[in-house]
Amino acid sequence: MYGKEIKKILVTREQIAKRVKELGEQITRDYAGEPLTLVCTLRGATLFFADLVREIRGDVEIDFIACSSYGAGTTSSGEVKMIKDLSSPIAGKNIIVVEDIIDTGTTLYYLKKLLEARNPKSLKVCSFLDKPSRRKVEFKGDYIGFEIENEYVVGYGLDYDQKMRNLPDVCVLAPEVYMGDLNKVL
Ligand code: 5GP
Repeated sequence: MYGKEIKKILVTREQIAKRVKELGEQITRDYAGEPLTLVCTLRGATLFFADLVREIRGDVEIDFIACSSYGAGTTSSGEVKMIKDLSSPIAGKNIIVVEDIIDTGTTLYYLKKLLEARNPKSLKVCSFLDKPSRRKVEFKGDYIGFEIENEYVVGYGLDYDQKMRNLPDVCVLAPEVYMGDLNKVL
């Protein structure tokens, strides 16, 4: 069903739906009776975020933030830029930052420090994917959807050069795509 730019499907939409439901139930239990603000990191986490919030019961607010440590392509620049800040203050609130993937750890390390300085009541991180073998900065997520190997993935919100976010499954990108052979495979 996918073209040559996709090497394989890594996580199917059915596996995603099941795991997102489990994470929603776990978060619902952990924050029982406590108001919660879920912060979506743009743009990669949007699809995960939209599914996750609907699996959480209770008093939930949402907000959005955008940081970037990647340029075009598949390697991290190591520099984190704030592109869009939250719309509301977070002091005294229970916050869960919802991220698409923890790779080198650079983005979340920076983001967590930045948000901690605003004195939330609590601050946790929920990441859809985690690539622990790629860490450059020590960072551990509190809620993780799936741990994956060191392969560049696209789909379910994750992009290659701003494309492929709309694929319903998590897929491994064919290395030819980022080896500069784009025209041959597409
Ligand atoms: P970190 O700062 O942890 O190195 O990078 C986090 C960001 O890098 C993620 O939010 C995501 O945008 C991007 N990233 C890391 N690995 C992948 C991957 O396999 N696929 C895609 N599409 N983006 C990735």
